[in-house]
Amino acid sequence: MNIILVSNRLSRAVTLGPRHLWLVAIFCGLALFGLLTVASWATYNLTRSLGISLPTLPGVPVTQQRQIDLLAVRLGQMQAQLVRLDGLTRRVADRTGIDAKPFQSNIAAPQGGAMSSLPERSLNLAQLQALVGGADGKIENAIDQYDLFDTILTQRKLNTFQAPANLPTAAGVRSSAYGWRIDPFDGRQTFHEGIDFVGDVGTAIFAAAGGKVLKAEYHNEYGNMVEIEHGNGIISRYAHASQLLVKVGEEVRTGQKLALLGSTGRSTGPHLHFEIRYKGVPQNPLYFLQLGAKPATVKLASD
Ligand SMILES: [Zn+2]
Repeated sequence: MNIILVSNRLSRAVTLGPRHLWLVAIFCGLALFGLLTVASWATYNLTRSLGISLPTLPGVPVTQQRQIDLLAVRLGQMQAQLVRLDGLTRRVADRTGIDAKPFQSNIAAPQGGAMSSLPERSLNLAQLQALVGGADGKIENAIDQYDLFDTILTQRKLNTFQAPANLPTAAGVRSSAYGWRIDPFDGRQTFHEGIDFVGDVGTAIFAAAGGKVLKAEYHNEYGNMVEIEHGNGIISRYAHASQLLVKVGEEVRTGQKLALLGSTGRSTGPHLHFEIRYKGVPQNPLYFLQLGAKPATVKLASD
């Protein structure tokens, strides 16, 4: 048998006899053997590095099985991430006091290693699809849970921005009412823009409602003072403190301790001067403190 090789470049034909044919056959055999060796070695190393065994399932082409195995590895990593997400959800639920049970997934506790929740044998396509479906359900659970967190936390925030109706100190004894009075320093009639509570130095001063600290500073007249912004144009002011316990920008809850009662600034003795202002106009704080349960009924001075 003769084989004719045609070379375009040289424009001539070469005739190979039986002896040449043997050489070509041996060369091809060696090349094929080398190729198979390299392919087996690469597959062995790949499966070893991924930590999986790859027995071929009956009736499944090898290449398809390899793809399923690689997807299974990826799914195992995703399941490990879901376990972490589940742990995070439980921690957020604990810290916010929001019940996470309705949406708690049934993800197994972390066991270490991305493959922990997957079987050690190869999966078939149906099993892989079932596991993907399971992971999908768990992600939906997490989304529902975080939606619930969002709703409840937003509601809580709205609840904290209510009218300042909480008694600002337990000191209790009111020495000076809101309105016109004789100024204790110069004897002239002046308008007292808040109410005073007399108490011992160091008595706690509480936030009359939740809000954001607008001022926490020393003022020549108010002494050490805190101002809280409650939203809707309403602020509350706490003056003459001996010590301030909050910083500007801080968010505070209703009843949170803001400062300690004192006699700093323009003051004749230890007391808390408490003011409420609506769009800068002083309001009678008693309206808020007395009608605290129904802040919507408070009539504001600038109305
Ligand atoms: Zn006062």
